[in-house]
Amino acid sequence: MKDALLQTSGLTACIEEKELLHGVDLTIHSGETHVLMGPNGAGKSTLGYVLMGNPKYTVTDGKIYFAGQDITELSADKRAKAGMFLSFQEPLEVPGLTLEGFIRSALQQKAGHVRYYDFKKELARCMEILQMDPSYAQRSLNVGFSGGEKKKAEILQLMMLKPQLAILDETDSGLDVDAVRLVSKGIEEYQRDSNGALLIITHSTRILDSLHVDHTHVMVDGHIVANGDGSLVDEINRGGYERFERSAEE
Ligand code: ADP
Ligand code: MG
Repeated sequence: MKDALLQTSGLTACIEEKELLHGVDLTIHSGETHVLMGPNGAGKSTLGYVLMGNPKYTVTDGKIYFAGQDITELSADKRAKAGMFLSFQEPLEVPGLTLEGFIRSALQQKAGHVRYYDFKKELARCMEILQMDPSYAQRSLNVGFSGGEKKKAEILQLMMLKPQLAILDETDSGLDVDAVRLVSKGIEEYQRDSNGALLIITHSTRILDSLHVDHTHVMVDGHIVANGDGSLVDEINRGGYERFERSAEE
């Protein structure tokens, strides 16, 4: 069997003494698309933050391995440098730092020097796919961006940074149909370009329409209670989470 890109075993994490994740086992290989579903408050965003090393959370048990390295104690910065990417539900606004400048410095931190000409060319290509007006490159990061524009700016970062693993937390929520289509296209493009792995946290199937889902995981109360293939997404959309919530109580 191929080595896993990301593997957690018995991952347990707390915030201010409260345990939010209980013994989560998750294995993701390069190029795979995983979907994480579950009712509100189940701990899905928490898992995303813990995987990325957000200092608000404390891992109290279990391990996180990424590309063969134990990263459980690694800072968020170093995880990003190692090739992990998380899109936030509430992205940061930074007056004075342009979208272009932000992406370029993130790229340089990761890969060292980047030729300006090559950078601009790739930026223009990606912005065109996302149908973003080129003037957005010079606007302050997320300042005054609409919800849809923020999501597109995030997918632009994903396409430019080409991380090995991207965790997308409700990237499709609040988007109109056209924006969902463009965001999906950007994600598809990223995956094709870089054989990246995806962990998509979502309630909707819209963003999944154009992506092939390899594995689905259901989280209830900080536990992974079910695993399946892409068909589990449709089953949940028909039947809801009730049967998983019942089995979690038993
Ligand atoms: P999801 O993304 O699945 O909707 P979250 O990961 O955002 O769920 O939240 C999981 C649980 O953690 C929720 O019950 C939430 O209330 C709880 N939680 C989040 N932050 C804190 C905190 N600072 N203190 C205590 N509980 C918290
Ligand atoms: Mg959430």
